[in-house]
Amino acid sequence: MNKYQSTYLNASIEYLKGVGPARAEVLKKELQVFTIGDLLFHYPFRYVDKTQFHLIKDIKTEGETVQVKGKLISMELIQGKKQKRLSALFKGSSGFLELVWFKGIKWIRESLQEGGEYVVYGKVNIYGGKKSIPHPEIEPLSKVLAKKANVYEPVYHSTEKLNLRGLDNKARGKLILNIFEKLNESEIPENLPDYLRQKLKLCSRAQSIRWIHMPSTEIERKAATDRIKFEELFFLQLRLIQSNQLRKKTVPGAVFSKVGNFFNRFYSEKLPFTLTGAQKRVVKEIRADLGSGVQMNRLLQGDVGSGKTMVGLMSMLLAIDNGYQTCMMAPTEILARQHYTSLLDYLSGLGVNTAFLSGTVKGKKRKELLKMLADGKIDILVGTHALIEDPVIFKNLGLAIIDEQHRFGVAQRSKLYDKNKRLTPHVLVMTATPIPRTLAMTYYGDLDVSVIDELPPGRKDIKTIHKRENYRPRLIQFMHQEIAKGRQIYVVFPLIEESAKLELENLTDGYDRLLEFFPRPDFQLSMVHGRMKAADKEAEMQRFVEGKTQIMVATTVIEVGVNVPNASVMIIENTERFGLSQLHQLRGRVGRGAEQSYCILMSSHKISKVGLERIGTMVRTNNGFEIAEADLKLRGAGDISGTQQSGAVDFNLVNLLTDQKILEVSRSIALKILDKDPELSAPINKNLSSYMKHVYRVRRDWAMIS
Ligand code: ADP
Ligand code: MG
Repeated sequence: MNKYQSTYLNASIEYLKGVGPARAEVLKKELQVFTIGDLLFHYPFRYVDKTQFHLIKDIKTEGETVQVKGKLISMELIQGKKQKRLSALFKGSSGFLELVWFKGIKWIRESLQEGGEYVVYGKVNIYGGKKSIPHPEIEPLSKVLAKKANVYEPVYHSTEKLNLRGLDNKARGKLILNIFEKLNESEIPENLPDYLRQKLKLCSRAQSIRWIHMPSTEIERKAATDRIKFEELFFLQLRLIQSNQLRKKTVPGAVFSKVGNFFNRFYSEKLPFTLTGAQKRVVKEIRADLGSGVQMNRLLQGDVGSGKTMVGLMSMLLAIDNGYQTCMMAPTEILARQHYTSLLDYLSGLGVNTAFLSGTVKGKKRKELLKMLADGKIDILVGTHALIEDPVIFKNLGLAIIDEQHRFGVAQRSKLYDKNKRLTPHVLVMTATPIPRTLAMTYYGDLDVSVIDELPPGRKDIKTIHKRENYRPRLIQFMHQEIAKGRQIYVVFPLIEESAKLELENLTDGYDRLLEFFPRPDFQLSMVHGRMKAADKEAEMQRFVEGKTQIMVATTVIEVGVNVPNASVMIIENTERFGLSQLHQLRGRVGRGAEQSYCILMSSHKISKVGLERIGTMVRTNNGFEIAEADLKLRGAGDISGTQQSGAVDFNLVNLLTDQKILEVSRSIALKILDKDPELSAPINKNLSSYMKHVYRVRRDWAMIS
């Protein structure tokens, strides 16, 4: 048995003293705590210093958690409209508090003494200047004073249901004590090698788990936190780097050894511009991968408009030159169709068979297409996620390109690998959402990364301004001017999460208002939103692309990738409702031609501080990487991890926002160790290998899907 398997910690949580079947049920449901170990590894998220007391007169904010010492003056049972309550008057040195109980009244009344000295602790309500604490923790002062000084009390994440089941913070602390009562230190064996612990001055694993729950000094708290954070990041990095190395060793890829006719003819006859230095460099990096015999997993990062599509196209031509099929997958129907159209255009006359597949391709047409694909008569298949569905079978898929990766999850990526049973296809993932370094290292730590850090020449910076409703008349005037110059304009409305109906109303209202100022037949407006049929959406989009309409009124469905170089004005309504990366994406729809472009961020007068900061960031910079960093700061890493749907990362304690330094250290150490000892087979690394085996039992699968 692996030494990390502890019978005690693996026992069902039900059997822990103080739990039992009913509470076990709640712990499972609310916290995904199934075993005693699960509860032990559920750490406090903060601590309260219970040596500090508040003065009642200083309590100013509703919801503040306070600890006050004083005298219990009187208790009174009050019959309210709906329920009885026990109300107590509590006097501190600087004022009064009301303590209120709705439940357990009898017991509380009997256990408290009028005139006694107590310490109360809880969240304050302030109503009409009166301060009260509902259901406070209350302990006799003498008992509190008898406790050891400097006691940090751990605070655990809780939910209403847990509290109702008597699993409030205090009870949770007790359960942890119960665990330690029966816990042998050997059940938390060390998982880091001694040399590493010494070098980094880390406390032992067993020590860290004890201290994280019950530190008695700041030093202990910090030692525990440092150790646990390092461990979380370090093992993740070990796994990511190792799985990348393993994949390179064990997963062969098609060898694209020659540059053939398709690539060469395209390059000399069709390529409408000179590649930027960055594009050339990245094409080279990709070619090296594709010729190496090892399956490629590469992430291509490049700001909006940096020309990633061309890099993707040239990689696809290499695949075809070497007798393989290839596909390009995009997150939306509009974007996929646009790729398809532009590919047809670029490749006209070269004899490349290109086809399109999405949910809208149905019936006989679909059947024929699938047959041609299976027979190898299609070279390039462009489409939506319909491409990865099971009935889609390639004859010989050699390279898959995923555009705008942030909408695809790990599971979807892995489905692509199965599209070729003999030889795992190469995968190139292209994303326009620059990812802060820390996130890239965590979420894509197993991918090779290429960056296009240069925009095609001649681009003018987009002028971005923030305006409010009183600017509206000037805005209409400005739109007229730009249209008179032959330009086109986007007007984007936010997604309204509460109601799709509201969202549509918002959009159609906006559309109707614009019609007043831009009446037919002199002007034509397009409208696109998520609830339209794909064909209608496509038709509306097409009218705009062809310049038949001057204004495109849309929701964020146009966010990703759409390319209309003649559109030079992006107007965003209710900007405060958009996220930063979304705004950046939207702005990237303009500034694609030679004209000066504008992005006008409209907002109401009342917006939150965070909303204002987001807008301020947009006005200040056009640089996607800067925006990504700002986004991370404003949103917090947890939020980003949610949208990344990575499924790979789950931290207990680490906060990617504040723990960058630890992340960098852990990655560089992981790299160094694996560089010397790729299999972790050296005796000094025994702890690492056995712990990895314990935690990542499915390592081989991981190598395939990451
Ligand atoms: P993104 O990286 O956002 O996907 P695209 O591939 O859509 O960017 O390219 C944006 C625009 O820039 C397109 O109109 C494309 O034709 C053009 N473009 C790409 N590379 C170059 C280049 N080297 N020189 C000039 N224009 C380019
Ligand atoms: Mg693109």
